[in-house]
Amino acid sequence: MAKAASKIYKATGVVLKKTKLGETDLIITLLDTEGKHLQAVVKGARKPGSRIGCACELYSHCELTLNQGKSLDIVTDARLISANRACCSSLMQSFAAAVVAEFVEKCSRDGGSDQRILPLCLAALTALGKARDADLEFLVAASLLKIIAQIGFRPELEQCAICGDSLTDISDSSIVAKNESGVGTQAGANNEELLHFSTKYDLKTSEAGEANGVSKSTLRFSTNDGGVICDKCLPHSQVAVIKLSVTGLRLIKLAIYSRYEELLQMLANCANPLLLSQLLMPIAKEMMVVHLGIQLKSLQFFNTHAQQG
Ligand SMILES: [Zn+2]
Repeated sequence: MAKAASKIYKATGVVLKKTKLGETDLIITLLDTEGKHLQAVVKGARKPGSRIGCACELYSHCELTLNQGKSLDIVTDARLISANRACCSSLMQSFAAAVVAEFVEKCSRDGGSDQRILPLCLAALTALGKARDADLEFLVAASLLKIIAQIGFRPELEQCAICGDSLTDISDSSIVAKNESGVGTQAGANNEELLHFSTKYDLKTSEAGEANGVSKSTLRFSTNDGGVICDKCLPHSQVAVIKLSVTGLRLIKLAIYSRYEELLQMLANCANPLLLSQLLMPIAKEMMVVHLGIQLKSLQFFNTHAQQG
């Protein structure tokens, strides 16, 4: 009986995970151009000088030739497009890159696909490679938010997520960098760093002005309701809300809608990027848990080291 010809195909993507197999092999997890999750065996990848193994290093952007296998497919050739080694230049950069990779790996594991996820993931890794250690936590939070927004959970930030009233007449005097779960900062309206940041990057109330808008002294963010909610709707909100400063709201918008180069420039001019990440990270974590049911071991690890650093 003639043996059926095995199917050979190509896949391009970024290596998110490597698992040892046997003496010298590896199983790699790739995020492909469709935003899909692909696992394959790389035989002999851990042998010294393996060319294919070298192209399949963690965070490598590569083009693979694969042979369809019975359970897992086999990588028969690999061409390196970009090694993305800069995101592992420091220990903290490695920890930060691991958070992005674990998140993308978990998001794509369920079989969902989105062609924007690979470019977003590659852009995040590139940005982490350019960042100072002090900027990493903000960039990690921004990366999580960008991906969460892209895969269907973009938060409502312009109007109340429940009644639709516009959120206007916001005053910068309302800066409250604290949320109800106690995670937050000691920052207030007089904090020099935040004022420096808000002046330079126009975090003031430029978008306010509708006469019939809802006045907000403090904003509230409800992940379950899908975004910012007004005082009137607060009693109808399903769960605990996060108190949000005007700066916090602007930061979420910047994180989701700005390019990484813009975020890096903003951080380079920020006197204390830690304050910004303390505003952004609780929102990113909450959205990840509530919308996707995802908790990341790598994020706990990263946060522990970031706080020590
Ligand atoms: Zn409302």
